[in-house]
Amino acid sequence: MAKRTVRDFDVAGKRALVRVDFNVPLKDGRVTDDTRIRASLPTIAYLREQGCRVILMSHLGRPKDAPDPAFALDPVAMRLGQLLEAPVRKLSDLTGPGVEAAVASMKPGDVVLLENSRFDPREKRNDPALVYDLARLGDIYVNDAFSAAHRAHATTAGLATVLPAMAGFQMAREVAALEALVAEPKRPFVVVLGGSKVTDKIKVIDRFLDLADQLLIGGAMSLAFLKAKGLSLGASKVEEEGLPYAEEALKKAAGAKCELVLPTDIVAADSFAEDAAAWAVGVDAIPDGWMGLDIGPATAEKYAAAIATAGEVFWNGPMGVFEMTPFADGTRAVAEAMAACPGVTVVGGGDSVAAVNKFGLASRMDHVSLGGGASLEYIEGSDLPGVVALPDKEQA
Ligand code: ADP
Ligand code: MG
Repeated sequence: MAKRTVRDFDVAGKRALVRVDFNVPLKDGRVTDDTRIRASLPTIAYLREQGCRVILMSHLGRPKDAPDPAFALDPVAMRLGQLLEAPVRKLSDLTGPGVEAAVASMKPGDVVLLENSRFDPREKRNDPALVYDLARLGDIYVNDAFSAAHRAHATTAGLATVLPAMAGFQMAREVAALEALVAEPKRPFVVVLGGSKVTDKIKVIDRFLDLADQLLIGGAMSLAFLKAKGLSLGASKVEEEGLPYAEEALKKAAGAKCELVLPTDIVAADSFAEDAAAWAVGVDAIPDGWMGLDIGPATAEKYAAAIATAGEVFWNGPMGVFEMTPFADGTRAVAEAMAACPGVTVVGGGDSVAAVNKFGLASRMDHVSLGGGASLEYIEGSDLPGVVALPDKEQA
């Protein structure tokens, strides 16, 4: 169900309390990747155009329920100001008289960023006292932080119960894209799963065996599947705890409409290093002491061909150690095939999105989900507290 958005509500002139996800990487007091900040610019711009006073809330990192200068939002405010080309006033608290005074002095179009919500121990408990302290600052609550929506915190869920609540554009985009993906994927629906661990993604694998027409497996995850099939994989990084789940998935796939496809060749290397000796071998021919670090060229070609004719593609998890150039080809082949695919293409996952950005192909995907864990939980079929808390469009 589509959620009520800032366009479906008379927001003009309101004090808008906006939850964004500005949990961005920092180095030496600077933001090193501003993708998440950019993602919420359309919502912030729209609210400013409507004459709102925009009061932003975000978490950053994992401070221990107390203020920690390493996780203060000042670098974020600085970057946001540059992107908005407007002043952003960063406050030194989340709530309290100082914050209330600052908000009272705001003019239409002004932007204020409250301090890291996780400096307050009440945030993660979704403490009603914090919800009420925050609610005093605003007339409406806007949630634009899909990637934090799997948490039932005060700023992600609690506020929606006390103020008129609505989705920002990034939240609405994420929900619409993932909802369409699980509810009515275009066929054939091809899913590419990779990355490091089977155990991270058991429920996602299970869900896609019900939903997809083809499930193409790569990355370290595929090694657990190959091992479960009895192959010996040299010194490859096989996740042992993943083996029983891989076995179960193989069993389920045998009776499913969905075809589960595993690599037939692999790039094997004599060490985990950029300058390792490395070449492609059959999956049954990895030399002792060598490790599989990427899908091989025959597998990459086969996966690319399946993607080329797909009605819809969802991809999560790199096909190899793409951070090292000699083991990036499989991941690049998947990314390029998706970029060229005329069907609907959706990428999700921290490292997969980083790979697509690295290859300069993000703009050629239909949807790049910044949701990370939240996207996978949504696909698994879990209710996300931050999404559930927002009213549907019809109720507007
Ligand atoms: P995502 O963040 O997209 O969900 P994951 O976090 O599950 O992806 O996995 C990404 C990591 O998996 C990358 O750092 C990559 O180097 C690693 N990886 C992929 N294939 C292999 C492999 N064959 N051996 C070791 N590591 C791998
Ligand atoms: Mg990751």
